[in-house]
Amino acid sequence: MKENGYREQKYSMTYGEYETECLPEDYRRLREVVMEAAHGAYREYSGFAVGAVVVLENGEIVRGANQENVAYPSGMCAERVALFYAGATYPGVAVKTLAIIARNGEEWVKDPVTPCGACRQVMAEVIKRQGKDFEVVMFGEERVWVARAKDLLPLAFEF
Ligand SMILES: [Zn+2]
Repeated sequence: MKENGYREQKYSMTYGEYETECLPEDYRRLREVVMEAAHGAYREYSGFAVGAVVVLENGEIVRGANQENVAYPSGMCAERVALFYAGATYPGVAVKTLAIIARNGEEWVKDPVTPCGACRQVMAEVIKRQGKDFEVVMFGEERVWVARAKDLLPLAFEF
């Protein structure tokens, strides 16, 4: 039903893609750190290990990994573990980069893994809190995506 006054709006985003074998050196190093972070996963129920790394503007690196719980909603995603730890430990220090990677069983996931909706909302809050956007690097076994956090949640809830 398209009546007078209706206007279609369009959203588009741009993100970068690398073949993993052609990664620039700094992303190669970041990949090593985030792979290490995934070892901290407690993945008793899904078998899915996610590693997250937050690089702060002061150079500090904060690691996170998913922490599952028998009461599923009580668990926490790797991204939020890292972002909340960073916020609690280094208040006022801006997030420069958030990187993620995932392993299903013993295999690293082929396609880049992307943050869930709840993590995207938390990322929107980080942007609001620090007053600027940050980079999100999503690693896969074969390719890597690089995006801006703001682009990952169009029309984010804001108040
Ligand atoms: Zn999540």
